[in-house]
Amino acid sequence: MLEIPKELYEKLKDILGNRVKTEEDFLEKYSHDETAELQNIVPGAVLFPISTEEVSQIMKLANTYKVPITPRGAGTGLSGGAIPAQGGIVLSLEKMNKLLEFDEANLMITVEPGMITSEIQKVAEKYGLLYAGDPCSSESSTIGGNIAENAGGNKVLKYGPTGAHVYGLEVVLPTGEITNFGGKMVKNVTGLDLVHLMVGSEGTLGIVTKITLRLMPKPKFSVALLAPFKSVETAIKAVPMLIKDAGVMPSSLEFMDNPSIKLACKFLNVSFPYADAGAHLILEIEGNDKEAVADEYEKLGDICLREGALEVFVADNRNTREKLWKVRKAIAEALMVYSPVHCMEDVSVPTANIPALLKGAMKIANSHELETIAFGHAGDGNVHITFIRGESPIDHWNNHLKPALENLYELTKELGGCISGEHGIGLKRKKYLPIVLDKPQINLIKGIKRIFDPNNILNPGKIVDIQ
Ligand SMILES: Cc1cc2nc3c(=O)[nH]c(=O)nc-3n(C[C@H](O)[C@H](O)[C@H](O)COP(=O)(O)OP(=O)(O)OC[C@H]3O[C@@H](n4cnc5c(N)ncnc54)[C@H](O)[C@@H]3O)c2cc1C
Repeated sequence: MLEIPKELYEKLKDILGNRVKTEEDFLEKYSHDETAELQNIVPGAVLFPISTEEVSQIMKLANTYKVPITPRGAGTGLSGGAIPAQGGIVLSLEKMNKLLEFDEANLMITVEPGMITSEIQKVAEKYGLLYAGDPCSSESSTIGGNIAENAGGNKVLKYGPTGAHVYGLEVVLPTGEITNFGGKMVKNVTGLDLVHLMVGSEGTLGIVTKITLRLMPKPKFSVALLAPFKSVETAIKAVPMLIKDAGVMPSSLEFMDNPSIKLACKFLNVSFPYADAGAHLILEIEGNDKEAVADEYEKLGDICLREGALEVFVADNRNTREKLWKVRKAIAEALMVYSPVHCMEDVSVPTANIPALLKGAMKIANSHELETIAFGHAGDGNVHITFIRGESPIDHWNNHLKPALENLYELTKELGGCISGEHGIGLKRKKYLPIVLDKPQINLIKGIKRIFDPNNILNPGKIVDIQ
C-alpha cells in the first residue's frame, strides 16, 4: 500500500487545517462501505473539504504526488466504490451538504454533493414538488453517491433512475480543473452528453461538487396496494402482466419473498398481513385526479387477483403507506444484521423476463446448495437475488459463491440483462464484467478513463484496471 509523503500531508493541512484526519478511528470508519463480502482497506488519511476550490487544490496535489484519491459520500454503497482500493486518501464530501438554490421558476434545485437524498425530497415537498429519486437508502445516502451509482430505487418504473433528474453538474476533474456540464436547459445537444457520462461513473472520472436537479409537480394522490401471493412463482409471473395489461404505469412495483419479509419484520419488530404467504408485491399509483387513481388501482388490483393474489390491501393514507414502505425499505439493513455473511446481487433483465430470471436463479442456488432470498424492484426488472451463508460451513460458502455468481451472470446475459442495475461494478463485480461486456466496450471504458485521469489517481482499481 502506498505511503502518503509527509510533505503532501503538510500541504494538505495548509489547505484544510484540522479537516485532514489521520486518527485510527477515522481511518477505520472510512475503510469500507456496506458491501458485505469485501475486505476493509484502511486509507492513509481522510479529508473533509468544504468548497469546490479546496477539492480542486487537493486534486492538483494528488496529481503531482501521484497519490490515489477515493471520493466518498455516506458510504452506503453496495459494490465497494468508496473503499480506497489502493490506499491513499479518502475524500469525503459529507461537509459539502448545502442547498445552494431553489429555482421555482425553472423547477430546478441546486445542491452540494453531500446533501442527504431525503433532505432534497423534503425541500421539494415543502414547495409542493417532487424529487423522484428514491433509493431505499434515501435517509442515509448522499446525492453525490446517488449520481455516481445512478441509484435506482422505488420510483424508477415511472420516473427513471437518478440520472433522469440530473441536468447540470459542476465537476472537479482528476487534474484539478473545474468544469460545468449541462445546466438548467431542458434540451441540450451541445457537444457530447457529459452529464450522463458522469452519472454512473462511480467516482472514477471526476468529483461532482455541485448538482442541478429537475423537480416535478407532486402528484396530489398516492395509493399503495399490497398483494400477497401463495408462491414466489405466482407473484413474479404477475409482474409482466401488471405492466402489460393494466394500461397504467405504477410508480412502484416491488417484490419481496417470504424470508425477506420475515427478516424485515423481525428487525422492525412489526407484524405484516399474510406474513406466511410465499411472496408479496407492493404497487404504488400516483395521480392528480382521485377518481382516476381509484380507477387505476382497481384495474391493478383486479389483475393481481386474476393472477392469483390471495387478497389485495389498499393503503390510501400516508400512515398505512409509510408502514408498508418501512418494511420494504428495511430488508437490506435487516439482512446486514441477521445474515452478515451474504452476497446481495443486483442483476437486471427486461421486465418480461423477470419470471425466467427468478426461476433460473433459484435453480442455481439449489444446485450450489446456497440459501437465497429475493426482493427488489421487479417492475423495472431489477431483483436483489441474495445468497446467504446461513448455517453452511465456511468452506462450502467459499467454494460455491463464485461459481454461483458466474452462473447467475451467464443466465442474466442469456435473458438480455446486465449484472448491475443500480449498485454498480466497483470492486465487487469488476472481475465479472467481461461476462456481459465485450472487448471493444471494455476498451472504450478504459480509453475514457485514461483521457479523464491520465495518472490513474481518481478511485483507481474500480470498474476496470487501466495499468
Ligand atoms: C440499506 C440500503 C439500501 C439501499 N437501497 C438502494 C436502492 O434502493 N437503490 C439503489 O440504487 N441503491 C441502494 N443502496 C446502495 C447505496 O445506498 C447507493 O449506491 C447510494 O447511491 C450510495 O450513496 P453514498 O452517498 O452512500 O455513496 P458512497 O457509498 O459513499 O459512494 C458510492 C460511489 O460514489 C462515489 N462518490 C460519492 N460521492 C461522489 C462525488 N461527489 N463525486 C464523485 N463520486 C462520488 C464513490 O467514490 C463511490 O464510488 C442501498 C444501500 C443500503 C445500505
